[in-house]
Amino acid sequence: MSGVWIYADKYEQVFELLTAGRGLADSLGTKLTALVSGDNDTAQDLIARGADEVLLFPPLAEDQPVQDYVPLMADEAREADPDIFLIAASLKGKEMGARIAARLDTALCSECITMNIDDKGKLQMERLMYGGSAIQTVSINSRPQMATIPPRAYEPAQVIDSRQGSVRTLKKPEPSGMKVIDRKGKAQSSGDISAARVIVCAGRGLEKQEDLDLVRELAGVLGAEVACTRPISEEKHWMTEESCIGLSAKEVKPALYLGIGVSGQIQHLVGIREAGIICAVNSDENAPIFESADYGITGDLYKIVPALIEEFKK
Ligand SMILES: Cc1cc2nc3c(=O)[nH]c(=O)nc-3n(C[C@H](O)[C@H](O)[C@H](O)COP(=O)(O)OP(=O)(O)OC[C@H]3O[C@@H](n4cnc5c(N)ncnc54)[C@H](O)[C@@H]3O)c2cc1C
Repeated sequence: MSGVWIYADKYEQVFELLTAGRGLADSLGTKLTALVSGDNDTAQDLIARGADEVLLFPPLAEDQPVQDYVPLMADEAREADPDIFLIAASLKGKEMGARIAARLDTALCSECITMNIDDKGKLQMERLMYGGSAIQTVSINSRPQMATIPPRAYEPAQVIDSRQGSVRTLKKPEPSGMKVIDRKGKAQSSGDISAARVIVCAGRGLEKQEDLDLVRELAGVLGAEVACTRPISEEKHWMTEESCIGLSAKEVKPALYLGIGVSGQIQHLVGIREAGIICAVNSDENAPIFESADYGITGDLYKIVPALIEEFKK
């Protein structure tokens, strides 16, 4: 049998995988199957956005983790033998992808950023290596060819009218040894930087935590979200990891990114590759960020940021 399968534990990422999967399925002349937890309305929405078939998981019990779908997904994939199986690279998706690949005795390319079908009908994947300074091309000889796809690698699929598809409801997964005891939301220090059109990013050029107020004021004037580099979230703990941009954090796609006291190391720049306009304020004229910036101001942020706030207020 054949086909392209997709699964994402977060609904927004299902749409991105639909775009990725639809392209591959069309290239191979095969069908696209989406695995999703939900009801018939969910399934019809996914069909309207590109799926040919939806395999619906019945809802889990309150204390069942989403990882309980793993044995079921592996059994279904063994039976249907798809060519390609893509899983969203969320925290849970990465774990589930690895466990499914192990059960199917196949290989998995993690954090794959582009995919193409070559002239022999084989999947060619690209992923970043060495902190984002190199791109590795990967192909897999076993079936299914599996990959995890990071968020925002593909645009979300839009609704196309009059698409038809089939829906099959799977059996409820058996409870595993793992039980969910409690669910708590993470503390958020700011809004969602992933969806922001304007981002002001605080770097280690700031001397103390209170100086973040200056960056927040600038962000307020610009209608921007405040983000940070890894030292600000992971070393100083002035902001949460949700606000951090980069290789080991979030990739963002704002129309405007403004880095304040950010040096521009590769691991950070990887996260702003898709930004429209990059601006930087840094006291060191040789700071690497100036090589990637469309506009740069060399100088002390404690003089420049207040001046920018005054100007933008006007
Ligand atoms: C495996 C790995 C993964 C990583 N992942 C990430 C990641 O996801 N995200 C990330 O951000 N980093 C990541 N890093 C860390 C990364 O390599 C850099 O260390 C980090 O991005 C530097 O942060 P920064 O620019 O805030 O600090 P610094 O590199 O310390 O830069 C501070 C800048 O502020 C400037 N400055 C100082 N005072 C002033 C002033 N008064 N006015 C104006 N400018 C001033 C300085 O000239 C300097 O350029 C990772 C590293 C590794 C090894």
